[in-house]
Amino acid sequence: MFCGRPTFDPDKRERPWVRGVSHGRQVLVCPRCQADRAGWAEELDGCVECGSTRLSAMLGEIVCRQCGSTRTNAETTGA
Ligand SMILES: [Zn+2]
Ligand SMILES: [Zn+2]
Repeated sequence: MFCGRPTFDPDKRERPWVRGVSHGRQVLVCPRCQADRAGWAEELDGCVECGSTRLSAMLGEIVCRQCGSTRTNAETTGA
């Protein structure tokens, strides 16, 4: 999400890409950006229920993969 690197099937030996949601959009943070940007996690949206950043954005909803809660993404769609 920061550097625009294309996604690829990650090598098992590399750190995984982190999937999250930032400003209502699905984003991926590559291993390099995880290492280079100390505050990258703070740019991800957090779950309103549990605070987890393990969120998935789909069809206008944000789904928490940690606790399963959903919220609509109405205020950020259509921009
Ligand atoms: Zn990156
Ligand atoms: Zn949650």
